[in-house]
Amino acid sequence: MKYLKSLVQAALFAGLAACSSNPMTGRSQLMLVPEKQVISQSVSAYKAELAPHAKKGKLNDDERVVQRVRAITDRLVAQAVRYRPDSASWAWEVNVIDDPKTLNAFCMPGGKMAIYTGLIEKLKATDDEIAQVMGHEIGHALANHGAEKMSVGMVSDILISAIGGGNQGRQQAGQLAALVAWQLPNSRGAETEADRIGIELAARAGYDPDAAPRLWQKMKESSGEKGRFDLLSTHPASDTRMEELAALAPHMRPLYAEAAKNPAAHPTRLAANVREVTPGGDPASHVVAPAALRPLALVNPAYERFRAGEAMLECENCALGFSNRADKLKTLDARGDWESLAREVLEVGYSQDIAWYYLGRAAEGQGLSDPARRYYQQAINLARNKDTHCKGMFTDICNGIRLPEQAEAALARLGK
Ligand SMILES: [Zn+2]
Repeated sequence: MKYLKSLVQAALFAGLAACSSNPMTGRSQLMLVPEKQVISQSVSAYKAELAPHAKKGKLNDDERVVQRVRAITDRLVAQAVRYRPDSASWAWEVNVIDDPKTLNAFCMPGGKMAIYTGLIEKLKATDDEIAQVMGHEIGHALANHGAEKMSVGMVSDILISAIGGGNQGRQQAGQLAALVAWQLPNSRGAETEADRIGIELAARAGYDPDAAPRLWQKMKESSGEKGRFDLLSTHPASDTRMEELAALAPHMRPLYAEAAKNPAAHPTRLAANVREVTPGGDPASHVVAPAALRPLALVNPAYERFRAGEAMLECENCALGFSNRADKLKTLDARGDWESLAREVLEVGYSQDIAWYYLGRAAEGQGLSDPARRYYQQAINLARNKDTHCKGMFTDICNGIRLPEQAEAALARLGK
């Protein structure tokens, strides 16, 4: 029992030490298993999943469907690597499993994907809808949900063993956790993240965002006739899902319109990657890494409002959260990283003069004169009419900025 107790402690300690921030959304995740390890395990799991279908002659047996799915997925992957440039080294691959009874699709860690023909046929899925399914699945992979599920599984497994199981039970449970992690239902949080990423990848790839709520609606309607590993069993469709997707769609329409204008701008990289699965091969050698561009960040409605001059900072009690970031804000300001500066300030939402002043800086830096004037004015109003932090005791979070003077100087600089 003493041994088990120390195991639990080790796991909990590892849990504390192994919280990393999500590569797509910044959310803090439990990460006991390195993503690299999960990716390499996925290669064999993928092979095992496809093998029986290939044996029956049911893998990629309809060239037309395969071409259709690969063309769609290719465009999604081209966008995915813009958000996570390191994923350009993944051995992305998609195959079509001919199984009309199964409504399913998946993307394993590392970009190993498949779609079952049941999903396409039963839903009479359009290209836009297929793009939403695959985009969602790619979202799980980009957000590293596989490694996260495995990590959560490991901790609960060790805890269960500590309570009652023996050595053997613990080992078996551990193996099971690793093998089936990607088949376990996703948490609501993971689903929301994947939805969020999927609809945006699809929009940037030129697929209609309104297809996202429509797809899940169709899925729900046909859920009466379930097949094996039905998508809904690993991706529970909650009642709020369609509403959330419908609310996201308007924010995605500008990206969709932009992509529709430049259809030729879609590079193809998946075609070069479609090949025999060779575990241990060097996937990086197959792909040209994209230029060292700043990775895309997910569209953030709060940031869109900021650019339109309609930012909202409403938190009265966020002084601590704000002061924790004071140094970072100062650095971003000095560096002229205006987008990151605005995002940081918006994330805290602190409704004080200094926060509005930084929004003014970020807007001015981006050449958004009207919004900048508005934010500076807001800083001035607060600094004049309230006991503000830049005048009061928390001078440290103001980074030496004098308000309202500096905001007034900025307004004068911007002119009418
Ligand atoms: Zn999902």
